[in-house]
Amino acid sequence: MATMKDFRTENKPTWCPGCGDFAVLAALQKAVASLGLEPEEVVCVSGIGCSGKIAQHFGGYGFHSLHGRSLPTATGVKLGNQDLTVIAAGGDGDGYGIGMGHLVHAVRRNIDLTYIVMDNQIYGLTTGQTSPTSKKGFRSKTSPEGAAEEPVKAVETALVNGASFVAQAFSGDVKQMTVLFEEAVRHRGFSLINCFSPCVTFNKVNTYDWFRENVIRLKDREEYDSGDRDAALSVMRKTHGLVTGILCREERPAYHEVMTGAHSVAASKMDLNIPREDMREIF
Ligand code: SF4
Ligand code: MG
Repeated sequence: MATMKDFRTENKPTWCPGCGDFAVLAALQKAVASLGLEPEEVVCVSGIGCSGKIAQHFGGYGFHSLHGRSLPTATGVKLGNQDLTVIAAGGDGDGYGIGMGHLVHAVRRNIDLTYIVMDNQIYGLTTGQTSPTSKKGFRSKTSPEGAAEEPVKAVETALVNGASFVAQAFSGDVKQMTVLFEEAVRHRGFSLINCFSPCVTFNKVNTYDWFRENVIRLKDREEYDSGDRDAALSVMRKTHGLVTGILCREERPAYHEVMTGAHSVAASKMDLNIPREDMREIF
């Protein structure tokens, strides 16, 4: 049986010391190992940004896709081989900027994959610009007088559009994050986990200490761990989005389970179980 170590690679992460993305990688490795999955059963598809490097460090299959395009790529992987456990991963600039449209459609289709967003409220890889989740008034190279716009409400958007699993996690609480990843991967259908993952180099406002002071950890999970979207939206509103835990979970068929007719017949005839070695050659 695979252990956490089997989900490591020989590539040494180049993230800055203390970057929240280390915790996300460790929690993911731990979660899939504790679920009894083997590396050849899991694919990590990432977008572009510091967070996008996660696909290089995750010891299953990895696909480093294009900016904002992790979700359509991951959708194709899942529909091509439904036996695979598919993880899509990226950042707030990547997923909630150029990739925002894909989020809504993956949500409404209930594609059976887990989407991890490392939300640090800044563009880190390009050295610190205001991102879609930066708060109004946030100062950066691109908004020296303070951001003029309200941040996007990505989690609320996912809830309103019918995401069947929505949660938030914090890199300062790896234990909770690991449990949430386990629950999300186990969930049949689309799972969004928005992770507060501090950028220690460029975001001097939303730091570990700031999150520790401001984030509320849901104590009574049962209260929100249901399909009650109104309750989830209400807790998001009351906490200004600064809450961790499972916000909503609803059992309903995933996209590949409701597909009928020509599509499913064509998919079932395709032999896409390409051996691991051959995959390496292709990519
Ligand atoms: Fe992490 Fe920020 Fe460094 Fe990128 S720039 S690796 S997000 S700390
Ligand atoms: Mg970012």
